[in-house]
Amino acid sequence: MDTRSLSLPAVGDCSLLVLSPSILELTRISTKERQSAWLPPEPPAVRVTVGGRPVVVRAIGTKRRVVYAPLARRDLRVATQFYFSLADPIDPAGPSRIVEVRFPADLPGGPDVAASAGSEPSRYSPAIHVNQEGYAPTLPKKAMIGYYLGDAGEMEIPASPGFALIDARTGDPVYRGSLALRRDAGYQTRPTPYQRVLVADFSDFTAPGEYRLQVPGLGASAPFLVNDGIAMGFARTYALGLYHQRCGAANELPFTRFVHDACHSAPAQVPVQSDHRFDFTWATIAGYGGVPGADHPPQIAPPLTSEASQLYPFVNRGPVDVSGGHHDAGDYGKYTINSAELIHYLIFSVDSIPGIAQLDNLGLPESGDGISDVLQEAKREADYIAKLQDADGGFYFLVYPENREYESNVTPDHGDPQVVWPKNTAATAAAVAALAQCSSSPLFRRQYPGAVAGYLRQARIGWAFLMRAIAKYGKDGAYQKITFYGDHYTHDDELAWAACELFLATGDPQYRQRLLAWFPNPADPATFRWGWWRMSESWGNAIRSYAFAARSGRQPASALDAAYLALCEGQVVAAGDDALDWSEKNAYATPFPSATKAVRGAGWYFSLDQASDMAVAYQIEPKAAYIDALVGAMNYEGGCNPVNTAFLSGLGRRRQREVVDQYAQNSRRALPPSGIPIGNIQASFQYLPNYGSELRDATYPDDNAGTGPFPFYDRWSDAYNVTTEFIAVNQARSLLACGFLAARTPGVSGAWTSAAARIDVPAAVSPIGAPITLGVTVPGRDLAGARIVWEARGQEPAFGPTYTIVPRDNGAQWVEVEAEWPDGRRSFGASSFKANSPLVNWVSGAVPSGGTAGSSGGDGWTWSFDHPAPPSSDATHQSNAAAGLHEHGFTGATATLAVGAGDTLFAWVRLDPANPPTEIMLTWSSGSSREHRAYWGANTITYGKSGSSGRHPAGPMPPAGRWVRLEVPAGAVDLAGATVDGMYFCLVDGCASWGAAGLAGAGTR
Ligand SMILES: [Zn+2]
Repeated sequence: MDTRSLSLPAVGDCSLLVLSPSILELTRISTKERQSAWLPPEPPAVRVTVGGRPVVVRAIGTKRRVVYAPLARRDLRVATQFYFSLADPIDPAGPSRIVEVRFPADLPGGPDVAASAGSEPSRYSPAIHVNQEGYAPTLPKKAMIGYYLGDAGEMEIPASPGFALIDARTGDPVYRGSLALRRDAGYQTRPTPYQRVLVADFSDFTAPGEYRLQVPGLGASAPFLVNDGIAMGFARTYALGLYHQRCGAANELPFTRFVHDACHSAPAQVPVQSDHRFDFTWATIAGYGGVPGADHPPQIAPPLTSEASQLYPFVNRGPVDVSGGHHDAGDYGKYTINSAELIHYLIFSVDSIPGIAQLDNLGLPESGDGISDVLQEAKREADYIAKLQDADGGFYFLVYPENREYESNVTPDHGDPQVVWPKNTAATAAAVAALAQCSSSPLFRRQYPGAVAGYLRQARIGWAFLMRAIAKYGKDGAYQKITFYGDHYTHDDELAWAACELFLATGDPQYRQRLLAWFPNPADPATFRWGWWRMSESWGNAIRSYAFAARSGRQPASALDAAYLALCEGQVVAAGDDALDWSEKNAYATPFPSATKAVRGAGWYFSLDQASDMAVAYQIEPKAAYIDALVGAMNYEGGCNPVNTAFLSGLGRRRQREVVDQYAQNSRRALPPSGIPIGNIQASFQYLPNYGSELRDATYPDDNAGTGPFPFYDRWSDAYNVTTEFIAVNQARSLLACGFLAARTPGVSGAWTSAAARIDVPAAVSPIGAPITLGVTVPGRDLAGARIVWEARGQEPAFGPTYTIVPRDNGAQWVEVEAEWPDGRRSFGASSFKANSPLVNWVSGAVPSGGTAGSSGGDGWTWSFDHPAPPSSDATHQSNAAAGLHEHGFTGATATLAVGAGDTLFAWVRLDPANPPTEIMLTWSSGSSREHRAYWGANTITYGKSGSSGRHPAGPMPPAGRWVRLEVPAGAVDLAGATVDGMYFCLVDGCASWGAAGLAGAGTR
């Protein structure tokens, strides 16, 4: 399995790697029909030869995991891996040997040699894990070495030979170092996983260039850079990800190739319950509001299950402008609590993390305008949240689709009509806090004096709403749960945060009194989520803002309560130390919480997000160990992990395709938009409609095995899994962390505004089935040193300076390019060209790609090689023998057929002489229209209007017992210039076989 390329492992692939002198890895990619059961993997009966001589296999280890399982359609790909332990190791100092795995000689069919590999010292090793983007010369540099051999346990790797850095081009060694054991701690499972991981520290090597890390006996890593831009590359990629979350605006070239028009710009409705349009909204609210929160004292207020039970009824009834801000996650919702948190982290970064306020070169549309890009992203969100205030001062809880919970089948520009959800005190307090925090930011005040005055005014109005609510219902009685967002600690944490920010914004003692009354002890373990997670929820925002009140220039130190300040600072450092401890207990240096290990959980975990607490703590206690651990977290996301996969889209060599993001699910591209974080560690597979529990059932060893379960950091799969879904807050926290690192490298400086890439496409119509090579230029920029990603219609994505493709379908061929320099500057381009052929066999041996097959009247799709059809030897499909009208076909193919004026549509047919039908009808569909039909023989099928293009008489029945090409001019069925995406094959009585169907170009009949 090549973990260095963008292509998916294909079913049938079989590959071999020499992991060490005594361990071989054989990987086979397979699939499985839905019906059959999963059996434990059987080691294959094979012979192994080294240099042509048979060797004895002492033991075989096995593992199996689904590697690819997209949500939208069933496409199951399973990797089964066998680890052959050789009785006599290959001499690592000897000449390179060809190692072969052969099937037994008596096995009929199939190739003799299953797979082969070389044992040369610089062969690729999947056991050597590096940050696939690279390492910054001025930051720590570490790679990890370790490998999981399935039920054979962890690979034993001796530390004694040390390691070398070799020049990626020449192979010459440029640096040597020693390997040290780095054991994981905290897992209670037996055997304890990740006890043999080694770390290669080359921090004192600083020469820029491209290298591979070589371990004698193991081979060498994928190539990586030593380059000043690496940390900035992560920061720019996270900023691009936030750009992709923007709502109410278009995403456009040259800033991205993941384009869409402006989204959700229509006003949202206020759901009046008497209006049945909003039945869904109220049923959904009732579903959430009626379920009490589990981890806090019971709610005193009536459950919010109807308009009448709202403590804070809607005042404004007309439509509300809710445009702007950022989508909270991949499904375009906008939760006020998350919006407030997003603002908090962006503004905190600008005010309190050195270097981030100066970032005006992230590659966003606003870059280069003299204003901090991160500040502008925060202002976008603040302007949005300011729109959510009702006339009584309360803030709406959520902006949501009117008739469903999550948008799932559209890009955002075709998104749903929306509603606002009711107000509650938690959402209001969070919005008050965020607006007050903006209003007191010195940089924000300098750049946007008018806006901050408005924010503070709105924050005070929101506060007055909260005070009236508490006066009327009491503090405990004023809270109504809506969903679990912001429900932890009810509104207590948001109220404390609001009081804190208003005090810091105004110095008014009434807010300080409230803060001290509501949150007297910032070190109170009762405010630690699950008893161990410090600074959780809005408690953490209050602590962070207070701890940095004087540092950020909000209040003089003399205005702060010294003891309280010390407690807040203590928590900031303690949270940083927690993350540091977790990182140090992790063999791969990611700060995965020990408490999560103890309960064998994982989900919604993002390395740099978790590490960001150390970047904050560093501002109070500048410990070098924090920087080391932050880089470790960045490396983990960049591919320095057991599965050699990048967990931030748009980076790394091995990239995930299947992400929980509706733009990605519904756009034409195979790859998701760049800048989307993907959960780094997952506990288990999700139950999915097209697979049920198969993904779990396929796994060996079992994830939940009592002994030797599949270890956690190896549980990756390119499969849809909501436990890996991000929210924009994760992006902001991660941007804080890598922005902090970037500011410590020279790569942080240098102006940058995006420049469009130009793709050289053929001017003439290209033939289908013939290779074309595409090139790219970026005017004024040197693409040497850039990593270039290509995608095109019907093609696998690929890296490379050029892109050689073979057009498969006729019509317009889109092509896109994304060039990324080591410091994360990107150029995007998109273009298209035409491909066509005199003869297009569109339906030939298979339903065109993406098509949904269907049938009726007792018919079905049956493929056969009986009676070979012209013009090819592809399988033919059969209409079943049935009385009356029966048909089979497909709709919605993504491999469409572009029809030109003057083209002739055709289908090869062979009528069964023993059971001939009385009428044939062909139906073509173009989008939602099916009024494109032609018939032969009796006019008994009543589809369409007789004699029109919806039921065109094309001639008498052809003779039975031989192949005949049915033909009809495209114009006769109103398809000249149309794009056809479906076709139905319809008979009255009888039976027939079908060969290729497609079109013949004008003049080629
Ligand atoms: Zn939107």
